This record gives sequence, C-alpha cells and structure tokens, in this order.
Amino acid sequence: MINLLDELKGAKSVAIAGHIRPDGDCVGSSMAMYLYIKKNMPECDVHIYLEKPSDIFKCIKNIDAIENAEETDREFDVFIVVDCSKDRTGAAEKLYDKAKKTINIDHHITNKGSSDVNYIVPEASSASELVFDTLDRDKIDVDIAKALYIGIIHDTGVLQYSNVSPKTMLAAATLISFGFDFPSIIEETFYEKNEAQTRIMGEVLRNCELKSDGRISVGCVSLKKAEEFGTHNKDYDGIVNRLKYMKGVDVGVFIYEMPDNMCKVSLRSGDKIDVSKVSSAFGGGGHKKAAGVTMEGSMDEIIEKLIVEIEKQYD
Ligand code: 5GP
Ligand code: MN
Repeated sequence: MINLLDELKGAKSVAIAGHIRPDGDCVGSSMAMYLYIKKNMPECDVHIYLEKPSDIFKCIKNIDAIENAEETDREFDVFIVVDCSKDRTGAAEKLYDKAKKTINIDHHITNKGSSDVNYIVPEASSASELVFDTLDRDKIDVDIAKALYIGIIHDTGVLQYSNVSPKTMLAAATLISFGFDFPSIIEETFYEKNEAQTRIMGEVLRNCELKSDGRISVGCVSLKKAEEFGTHNKDYDGIVNRLKYMKGVDVGVFIYEMPDNMCKVSLRSGDKIDVSKVSSAFGGGGHKKAAGVTMEGSMDEIIEKLIVEIEKQYD
C-alpha cells in the first residue's frame, strides 16, 4: 500500500494519465486523483491527460480540466498512470518517459509494473478502489468520493461482478457516506442509453452468432452499420455483457470495426475461460473475466483467430 501525499512530497508538478478510450474506472480514478492533489497540494501544478471522455462523465467536478497530451512536451516531477501501464496511455506516453519519477496504480493482471513506484493489485475491483487506498480519508471531499464511486460501479457492474470483495463494499460504503445522489449517478452514467445506443444494442443481439456448440456468442458492428445507426466506439458499452449473459454461453465476444483494417475486440467470460489469456495472445490485456485487444484484419478473420484461441482452453 502506498500513500499518495507521501509519494508526492516536494513535487512541484504532477501529471496524471489513464488508458486510451477511457472508461468509467479510468475517468473516475484519474479525476479523483486530480481533485485530491488540487485540494491537498494547492501549491503543486497538476495536470490530467486523457482522450475526451464520454459526456456521461460531465457530472464529475472539473472534468473540463482534462487536457490533450499531444499539445505539450513538458517534463513533470511526477507522472502517475492509473488503470493501465504506460504503453496504453497513448499520446501521454512521451510525457511519462521524460518524467523524473513515475507511479503506476492498476488492477490489470497483465500489468507487470515497470514504474518507479508500483501499486498493482490484480484482485482489486478497480483502479478507483486502489486510488482510494492511497488517499487519507480525512482529506477526501464529496467530489473526490463521487468520482471514485463512479469508477468502482463501472468496473464492477454496479457492485455485481466477482471482482467485488468485502473491501470494495467497505470502500463504496465510505464513499456514499459523503452524501451524493448515488442512485441517479448509477442510472445516468451506467444504465441510461440514448436512442442510437439502444437500437445498435438490439441490432447486435438480434444478429449475434453462436459458435463452438453455443459456448461462444459473437456480436459485431461493421463501419457500415455504425454509419447506418450513427454510432461510435463510446456507444457500445454493455453490449458484450449481454452477449455473455445468454444461457449456455461461456464467452461473449464483441467486435467493432475501425478504420485502416483494424478492429476492437471485447471479451467477457464466466469461470470456465480466462479471457485475459486470449487477449494477451494477440497483444491485448485485461482480466480473467473481462479483457480486450485491438487487432488487424477483417472481422471474420479475427473472429476465427479468437475462437481457435478460446478453444485451446477447452482441451
Ligand atoms: P473492454 O472490453 O471493456 O474494452 O475492456 C475490458 C478490459 O480489458 C478492461 O480492463 C480494459 O482495460 C482491458 N483492455 C481492453 N482492451 C485492451 C487492450 O487493447 N490492451 C490491454 N492491455 N488491455 C485492454
Ligand atoms: Mn479498471
């Protein structure tokens, strides 16, 4: 366990970054850390670099402070990476590489920990739970608590998945004691979908294919479909979980096509298959039950490769 303020002692400039295509845990954990440093180290120049998050995270205080790492070349005293390792930080990686001290807080089993200070706990529900560990309780305020809570609920399916431990629940309990409107936050950031998002989910589920005797369900969105439905990468959250929840299915696979013959793959599983092994085989990462990877090739080629890799675990 580390204490964030101890690690930052004497630092005049600090930068924080998370992974590309930031999800709720990434945005929540990095924004909580940003707000905490701003509040408790007012003399420190703190910056946060992320790709533009979805509008659902507008409820997080100071979300507009997020900057684009492409626009700077600065050397920071401390660079903190949350919810990934430095190689998934996109444009922020060059800033990490020149920082005087680096800190990595993450819960991905595939993260080997290569920063000066590493707090990596694969059993933890979320990066947000780990960031919470590093903060002094009496120095947290309602805005910091809310950001961390959003992170935890997003990475745990609202405290449902098996990555939830008693410690996660205790953290969530402490966080809601700060007194924000948590039912609305859950509804507005996790469950609510706009019309296009709702319709594309229906389309993917209606057209999904069952492979390997019904043990693998595959759903996809081609560039053409995305154009037809007016959807983008941020609109597909939750689809892969629905694919996995079909009775008899061990692994849900969701793929969407990106430009330049690339595809983004999401994998979800139960107890039988370790999908982090599947994604790692193609250079991706994640957790046993939730993993992802970006791959080159047509959707059909990629599906075939993924199925071969998943089936290795049935032997
Ligand atoms: P998702 O399917 O929601 O994009 O990601 C599921 C999990 O796998 C998340 O913990 C995410 O951080 C991780 N993940 C997704 N894509 C990649 C990737 O391309 N590389 C690595 N290392 N991890 C990924
Ligand atoms: Mn996470």
